[in-house]
Formats: sequence, structure tokens, C-alpha cells
Amino acid sequence: MSVGSHSDECSDIPEWLQVGEEVLPLVIRRHRRAKRICLRYDPTGHAVSLTLPRHARVSEGLHFLNQKSEWLITTLTEMPCKKQIKPGVVIPLFGARVRIKHDETLRCAWQLKDDVLTVSGKREHFERRVMDAIRKMAKKHISDLAAYQSRRIGRIVRRISVRDTRSRWGSCSSTGNLSFSWRLIFAPYEVFEYVVAHEVSHLRHMHHGERFWQLCEFLCPGHEVAKEWLRVHGKELYRFNA
Ligand SMILES: [Zn+2]
Repeated sequence: MSVGSHSDECSDIPEWLQVGEEVLPLVIRRHRRAKRICLRYDPTGHAVSLTLPRHARVSEGLHFLNQKSEWLITTLTEMPCKKQIKPGVVIPLFGARVRIKHDETLRCAWQLKDDVLTVSGKREHFERRVMDAIRKMAKKHISDLAAYQSRRIGRIVRRISVRDTRSRWGSCSSTGNLSFSWRLIFAPYEVFEYVVAHEVSHLRHMHHGERFWQLCEFLCPGHEVAKEWLRVHGKELYRFNA
């Protein structure tokens, strides 16, 4: 593992990190309330972040980083390979295997038909257009299902946001706003259903007690299997670039 250095005035602060074959951005932050040095891998940005308490020296942080190199190497090798988004590639969408295709003559931005997702536009914008289409589909499906499930339990969702969340697949605020990771679209359909049912159940029970899980089971029978899938395979949903 080796560390590159900054070009600006903080000459002792590295900005990239070589781990095996990979070069990753390294973000060093200072946090006033941090009690100790903290190292984290962020799969969304495929970057490493090092948080330092207010008075810690950068050199101490780097020393810590070196001590943790084994952990970092293991974490990175356990990450599934990034899958390239290019014409002909098959991606999982709600458990179906969908082939992505480029067609410059297509009259709309994208179209999903018979397990083929076709996007228009120039070839160099292909990846961005595919991801845009996927995010839009995710938002629509998640919003529709959350609205449907909340009606079943007599609750109203105030707002649903779908974004690239890092630590959680979904969340529910005390004011009834739900938030989900659009990456759930890459998971099997039952998993997607479970996460939506989980957050919708929080509209009634803001805890993880027995009654919460009963409601979750009512909305999504057999949810235990989906929950386990997410625990084991969750990080695979980061295989695709944002
Ligand atoms: Zn929960």
C-alpha cells in the first residue's frame, strides 16, 4: 500500500492511495467531535476516508492507515468487481436479466421492452444515459410500491426520495418521509419489496420491536429471506457505477 501526496500547501496530506493494483482517492477530514482516528471505505465513491480528531496530526493518521492496510486490502478484495456499462452487457433489474443496447435512432431517451433496455443519444453518453434510465425506473417503482403499501396500513407517505445512500438501503424520518437507495433496483424483487415494506412499517412503529416485525411480515410475507440476502449480498449492489 502506498500513499501519494497533495500538490497544494498541505504537502504532507496524501490524496491518493495505492492498494495492490488499485489507486483510490483518499479523503482526509478533520472532525471536531471525533474522539479517535477513523478509517472508512466508501463503496459509492470507491474512495477511502480518514477522519482525524481536531488535534491529531496528519502523520498520526497516516500511521494509523498503514496499520490498517491488511483490513483495507481485505475489504477491497471482497468488493465485487465493478461492472462496465457498455452495449451488450446484461444487468439485473428487479431480478430480471436485462440486456442494455444503444440505438442512436431511438426517438425517446430510453425504452425497456422484452428485457432489453435501449437508450438513444451519442455513444459517449451511453453509460450516463443508462444510469439515468435506471435511476428514473427505480424512483418510479419505489414510489409506487411505497404509496401502495402505506395505503394498505392506512398511512400516508409525505415524501419519498430515492438517492445513492451509503449506509442504509432505506430510512424513515419521524415526519413520515421515506428515503431509499436507487440501487435496490439491482436486487431481486423480493428484496426490493422487503426494504419498502420495512420503511413503510416504520410509518406505524418507529422501532424494531415485535409489532414492527409483524407488520413487516404482513406487508412482505417471508421477509426474513430477503433480509438475509441483503446482509450477504448487499454490497454487490455497488457493482455498477453511479
Ligand atoms: Zn428499520
